[in-house]
Amino acid sequence: MNKTFAYAAMSAKAPLSPYVFERRNPREHDVAIEIKYSGICHSDIHQVREEWGKGAFPMVPGHEIAGVVTKVGAKVTRFKIGDHVGVGCFVDSCRTCEYCHEGLEQYCSVGMNGTYNSTEADGVTVTQGGYSTQIVVDENYVLRIPKNLPLDKAAPLLCAGITTYSPLAHWGAGPDKKVAVIGLGGLGHMAVKIAHAMGAHLTVLSQSMKKAEDAKRLGANEFYATSDKATFKKLKASFDLILNSVSAELDWNQYLGLLKIDGTMVLLGLPDKNVSLSAFSLVMGRRRLAGSLIGGIKETQEMLDFCAKHNIVSDIELISADKINEAFDRVLKSDVRYRFVIDCKTFSAP
Ligand code: NAP
Ligand code: ZN
Ligand code: ZN
Repeated sequence: MNKTFAYAAMSAKAPLSPYVFERRNPREHDVAIEIKYSGICHSDIHQVREEWGKGAFPMVPGHEIAGVVTKVGAKVTRFKIGDHVGVGCFVDSCRTCEYCHEGLEQYCSVGMNGTYNSTEADGVTVTQGGYSTQIVVDENYVLRIPKNLPLDKAAPLLCAGITTYSPLAHWGAGPDKKVAVIGLGGLGHMAVKIAHAMGAHLTVLSQSMKKAEDAKRLGANEFYATSDKATFKKLKASFDLILNSVSAELDWNQYLGLLKIDGTMVLLGLPDKNVSLSAFSLVMGRRRLAGSLIGGIKETQEMLDFCAKHNIVSDIELISADKINEAFDRVLKSDVRYRFVIDCKTFSAP
């Protein structure tokens, strides 16, 4: 077993505090990874606060993991010691259902094994995430991070990157498409960079004008404040595709009106509250409301290679472990430019 230093929430809604636990010794198909950097996703906050249902505590969050291989099991073929690697939102899945076969492990019929707040394939051992010094993962669920991407700024690609790349690719974002993203946070800023690289015309819809300059620098063509009523009139029926990255409930009817005929709004944000919808919002324009969950292993590797080719990384604020709770509070205030990343060498014995 391997002593691992981490930060954990000991109970729902409790602030995170230093925590020590054991990782398993690598099995024959496992890769042991020294975690260098770990991103803070809004989903970490939802889960620590039990906004999505009952959590497993102590909970070590973190599913934007970037590090270096330190050990490989006897039968590992894809990785060697020293490789730059990443781990995203899941560490295993059933491997036999039709979705696992198609490389859509995130939609595994049995249920993927989440990187934390979940269990390993045995259904018993609780998984613990990336706010820690090391992790041991089956090689089939480990990603290769191209060497030209700095590990700190690449970490957020493992969730925010793939969560936005996947729907942009699936719904064909490109030079002939007008795309909007609602919310310029961790997911939103990656959507801007990736859609820009795909050649789409990209508009940011943010609560205020505060982030307008940043959005332009990140690659947005247009920027509007949703607090201004005129925005919804001006942009009526403008977009082929809208990605909603907002972590809170919104008036979906209002945003659906911004879609062209046959346009699609994709929900990425996962607030804890239901929002009602008028049938008219969809029917009067053959519009679609869809959802999308992260991405499979194959597509995540494709996204990392795409980002390496286009020099895309996240804009980050690097923090030490003792600043995690402060970072959570700032994320909740939409005050993050644009992803907090923890320097994992700052985890130590309590
Ligand atoms: P984030 O960094 O907090 O960004 C969310 C952004 O939404 C904020 O920066 C803010 O942007 C906007 N916003 C926040 N509260 C709002 C409100 N009350 N009304 C309108 N806009 C608001 O969060 P994130 O890490 O990008 O995650 C966003 C959501 O996606 C979370 O719910 C998370 O759990 C979910 N998520 C889903 C997946 C998936 O696979 N579908 C994967 C990862 C995360 P402005 O300041 O620009 O308005
Ligand atoms: Zn995430
Ligand atoms: Zn499966």
